[in-house]
This record gives sequence, structure tokens and C-alpha cells, in this order.
Amino acid sequence: MEPLLGKSLTQLTQWVIEQGQPSYRGKQLHQWLYQKGVRFLDDISVFSKKWRQNLTQYPIGRSTIDYCTPATDGTRKYLLRLRDGLTIETVGIPTKKRLTVCVSSQVGCPMTCDFCATGKGKFARNLKSYEIVDQVLTVQEDFGRRVSHVVFMGMGEPLLNIDEVVAAVKTLNEDVGIGQRSLTISTVGLPGKIRQLAKSRLQVTLAVSLHAPNQQLRQKLIPSAKSYPLHALFKECQEYVRITRRRVTFEYILLAEVNDFPEHAQQLATHLHGFQSHINLIPYNPISEADYQRPSQQRIQTFTQSLLSLRKAVSVRYSRGLGADAACGQLRASRT
Ligand code: SAH
Repeated sequence: MEPLLGKSLTQLTQWVIEQGQPSYRGKQLHQWLYQKGVRFLDDISVFSKKWRQNLTQYPIGRSTIDYCTPATDGTRKYLLRLRDGLTIETVGIPTKKRLTVCVSSQVGCPMTCDFCATGKGKFARNLKSYEIVDQVLTVQEDFGRRVSHVVFMGMGEPLLNIDEVVAAVKTLNEDVGIGQRSLTISTVGLPGKIRQLAKSRLQVTLAVSLHAPNQQLRQKLIPSAKSYPLHALFKECQEYVRITRRRVTFEYILLAEVNDFPEHAQQLATHLHGFQSHINLIPYNPISEADYQRPSQQRIQTFTQSLLSLRKAVSVRYSRGLGADAACGQLRASRT
């Protein structure tokens, strides 16, 4: 049987009715699954004892926490074990006002970007929408406070698993209660997929991993870019802006003496001329399999200043959780 997590209030109500229960039990089940984050159906104390005994055979779809690594900045990285025994990583990132979860969308990642630890491991499979929702509920439970934001920046390429990702977004929004504008989908960009996402009419934030301001350099860093020229990627992003009326964020990892020269800032600004966008600079987080370097503070500042002087909206994202290997690009399917 399909796990219950991911089902809407209507579907849950239908399910309880099939179980010979009155329809109001659907609302109770919905509340216990998504608000209380119950892990076992027989823990739902408002249900009759007799029915609860019967319910043990039905799966909710929760993972178990194999391991939690806290970083000194309060970030926690979890290794979660799925029902089939595979593992994924999820990160909880707290600030005073926010609790952000960085969710995985796949077990491993087939994109093999040169600077990213996830791509160095094996790709296993897409996650189901309930496995994405579970990650958010797990972090919510462990921190004991509501999750306010979700970023699809963990393991995997979300747009390779677009149907389950869109389904998870809907559940997170309608059932868990997180605003769509507080959800961000990050993608390396795949032909036709950004357009497809735009047509699903969500109000989520789209972040595109650009990382290079020209085709030649980009395809060196991101193998899949070979079959997706930069001008085609930008064209689809423009369509996204037109259809959703939301600006696009471009993520740009800063790799010392690879893509952080002033001419790169210049090229980037030229591409984004007249484009409703925001540039997010991410100083590279070291991984053992690649020998890139994080640029000096001076170089990061110079690059940022060049973009600002070209009147580009730009921010620098210092990843949290670095000490626990929980930062962008450092996630893997096993404990390290
Ligand atoms: N596959 C998606 C989402 C996962 S990665 C994507 O490519 O967007 C989330 C972000 O972290 C991406 O922008 C990715 O390029 C970046 N990232 C990967 N490795 C990194 C590293 N070593 N240091 C800093 N950022 C990294």
C-alpha cells in the first residue's frame, strides 16, 4: 500500500470512510500526520483502541534518523534511512526567525557536477513525494519548532524528478502549511523542464545553478550543460519570469581563479541585462574529491562590487553547517 503521507484531506477522508469510519476521522488523521507529525498510526490517541490495533499494518511513510551531526552554528545534518534501506541527507538550518530545511529530491545525483560531493557517489533513484515531505516533518520534530522555509538544495536534481517534487510542494503548502513563496527549487537547468515547472503555476522561487558566465566554462564545470546552451537556458528562465511573474535567482559558486575574474562578472552582468533576477554568490565549500579553492575575502568582495557597480542585485551566501559537512555541495548518501 502507498504510504499515507502525501495524501490530501479529501483523500484521507475517503480512506477513513473505506475503513468503515466516520468522515470526521479524516480531519483528525490529517492533523496528526501533518501537524503533530505522528510516526505510528496506533499512537493517534483520539482513535478507538480497536481501530488502532487494526491500523498498525498501514504505513505512514516516515524515515528513521540513522545519525544527526550538529554543527557549531546550530545547523543539524541528518542521515535518514528510507523504507527500502537507502539513505539520504537532510539539513536543518535555524536562525532566530526562521527554520529552513534543505531537502534532497533524489538518492544520489546523476548530474556529476565537478565541484559537488553528491555527484561523486552513485545515483540510486528518485524520491517519492512523501519521502520529501517526511524530511521536513523530521526536522520540525527534532527542532521542536515549525519549519518556515524549504529549499530543494540537498542531494539530487529536483527537475529530473519534477512530478514528485511538484506533488511534495503542494503537500508542504496545503497540508503542512508552508507558504509557496517560502519554498525554493534549485536546478542545474535541463531542457524544457523550467518551462514545465512554470506551467505548473506554483509560486515557488526558482534558483538556477549557473556557476559560469559563458558556455565553455560552464560545460567544464557541469557536464550536462553540453546539451543545453546558455542562451537556451536563459530563454527558458525568461519564460519562467513571464509566466509566473517571479524573478529568478542565479546561483554562482565562486571558485578561486576559475570563474571569479572581473571579466566573468562583466560577462554575467551582460547576460542578465534587463532580466528580473538576483545573483546569489556562493563561496565554494571544499570537498575532498576536487581541488578547487575558495577565493580570498578580497576576491569575493571585488567580484561582488563589480556586479553591484553594474547595477545587478547580488548577495553572498556563506553556507551554514560547513564544519559538519552539511553545507551546499557537501551532502552524500552515507556517513563520512
Ligand atoms: N541539483 C540542484 C540542487 C542541489 S545543489 C542544483 O544544481 O541546483 C544546491 C546548490 O549548491 C547548487 O547551486 C549547487 O551548485 C551548489 N553546490 C554544489 N556543490 C557546492 C560546493 N562544493 N560549494 C558550494 N556550493 C555548491
